Amino acid sequence: MSDTPGYNSGVSRDPAADLLAIAVELERAGEAAYRVRAFRRAAQTAAATDPADLADRAAQGTLAKLPGLGEVTARCVAESLAGEEPVYLRRLLATAGTPLDEAVEALHRALRGDCHSHSDWSDGSEPISAMADAARALGREYLVLTDHSPRLTVARGLTAERLEQQLAEVERLNAGYGDGFRLLSGIEVDILDDGSLDQTGELLGRLDVVVASVHSKLRAPTEVMTPRMLAAVADPHTDILGHCTGRVLRREGGGSATETRPESTFDAEAVFAACADRGVAVEINSRPDRLDPPKRLLRLAVEAGCLFAIDSDAHYSVQLDWLRFGCERAARCGVPVDRVVNTWPLDRLLAWTNRERG
Ligand SMILES: [Zn+2]
Ligand SMILES: [Zn+2]
Repeated sequence: MSDTPGYNSGVSRDPAADLLAIAVELERAGEAAYRVRAFRRAAQTAAATDPADLADRAAQGTLAKLPGLGEVTARCVAESLAGEEPVYLRRLLATAGTPLDEAVEALHRALRGDCHSHSDWSDGSEPISAMADAARALGREYLVLTDHSPRLTVARGLTAERLEQQLAEVERLNAGYGDGFRLLSGIEVDILDDGSLDQTGELLGRLDVVVASVHSKLRAPTEVMTPRMLAAVADPHTDILGHCTGRVLRREGGGSATETRPESTFDAEAVFAACADRGVAVEINSRPDRLDPPKRLLRLAVEAGCLFAIDSDAHYSVQLDWLRFGCERAARCGVPVDRVVNTWPLDRLLAWTNRERG
């Protein structure tokens, strides 16, 4: 990185060089071409603009009005001018030089279980036993069954009574498995409008693992969504925050993806800080139509010190094998293996979900 003499105080960095460095890193990491182009274009603009003009605009917050700059690239320029390594560049460099394939393999090998799956009791397509058998065939040591909660009627969410019945069924099935595998009880519980969870505390307290997810009013403004999510993270029963942005992707022919349901907006820094503080894991949802959180947020959660759960969110048994997609994203974003709760042995996982929460 350059130490170009500063435009005013002598401590500025060269914004064009920083933007170009980001483009190079994005390209190396195999990120989408349009994103690489955006940073290259921004670098050209920064290089072609009078340094004094850039400094003025940074002071007035009007950098993004320059043709070729957007909000993200303008922030990078402002940080460079202030003499700071742009946060975007810092996060990319944190994972540069890691042989990606090896990191993905290591992470995938380290996974012992899966903390998010559905059966035909809610909107999954196969019986519980078929899901468990498939997980065993994949060499998993545990599978958490997380069918939906009552309010998600479109997904045949389980009433308290049906969840009680399911607990008995899980117990019955476990009696037939040997030492090497355990089916864990769980739920994907809806985060209600006020941030409370859509099941009784008594029942949630009896489950092995609780995944809490937002499935409704995903377009609510940040001022509504942030306190809602913070309340759910603060609930003593929450273990994992499911697919945090709720986005849905559609695969294009060439393997690229476009969002068909955009990310919901919330103060990710505040929510991830709360997760780190409460020991709640941020889910890395491996479904090809979700891949949630997006990588920039995943990097933010890594920096915040969060735990993670790499989950399949399988609705068919073959989908249990999707964890590799989550591993790929986790490795790209520098998620440390030991912070992934489903690399932990069963007893450590259960000690974590039964933890004291102040
Ligand atoms: Zn969900
Ligand atoms: Zn789910």
